[in-house]
Amino acid sequence: MESAMDYHTARALLDWQIELGATEAIGDAPVDRYALPDTTPKVKKAAVSQAAPEKPKQLDPVAVAKAAAQSSGSLDQLRAAMDAFEYCDLKRGARQLVFADGTPGARVMIIGEAPGREEDREGKPFVGRAGQLLDRMLAAIDLDRKQNVYITNVLPWRPPQNRDPKPEEIGMMKPFLERHVALAKPEVLVIMGNISCQAVLGKRGITRLRGKWEQALGLPVIPMFHPAYLLRQPQMKRHAWADLLELKAWLGGK
Ligand code: URA
Repeated sequence: MESAMDYHTARALLDWQIELGATEAIGDAPVDRYALPDTTPKVKKAAVSQAAPEKPKQLDPVAVAKAAAQSSGSLDQLRAAMDAFEYCDLKRGARQLVFADGTPGARVMIIGEAPGREEDREGKPFVGRAGQLLDRMLAAIDLDRKQNVYITNVLPWRPPQNRDPKPEEIGMMKPFLERHVALAKPEVLVIMGNISCQAVLGKRGITRLRGKWEQALGLPVIPMFHPAYLLRQPQMKRHAWADLLELKAWLGGK
């Protein structure tokens, strides 16, 4: 085909196209794309707004825990509700839920802190060294988890490396603890250590609090040194003994 364009004009045009980014010639004849019919698929505005992903609703873990706890009508249901609760990160690092041990409906309910390695392995609270000391302490005032004591913890999952539970973990699991107490129906609560004092009384300071009666969750509460602390500080056992006698006197007087 004879072109009306001279060599220099054609060369200048080609250079200009290369400058614009053209890297290959794909047709012999030029295509006027402005003259072509518009074949771009039309997207309806409404469809766009429908397809936009919905913002995930921010659920409040404490509200979820409260609802799950309140809808549990028995200890078995509460255990299942806690097992299904996915908002506490401790669950991911633990082998299993540690719910309770002992005798539901007993007059005395003991609230410890959180499972350790042995408890995590066995799925029961207070079965390691601290638990064995607890059993001896209870036996000294004629209490026995197989007969007349019910035992649980503030947290049902072992914290990594047995670190102290964080305040938000305690707050998140508190609705379950409250329901646990309501369903187990004890007459008195024994709270062991600072974490339990924090969860049940909203304050710490076990050295100051121990042995003094308080009222919480609608029940008389007596704080005591944690048996794990007594293993490290055996000279404090005399205080624990005094507190156990106080509990015995309370039980005997009722
Ligand atoms: N310490 C606790 O507080 N609870 C347990 O179950 C074991 C150790």
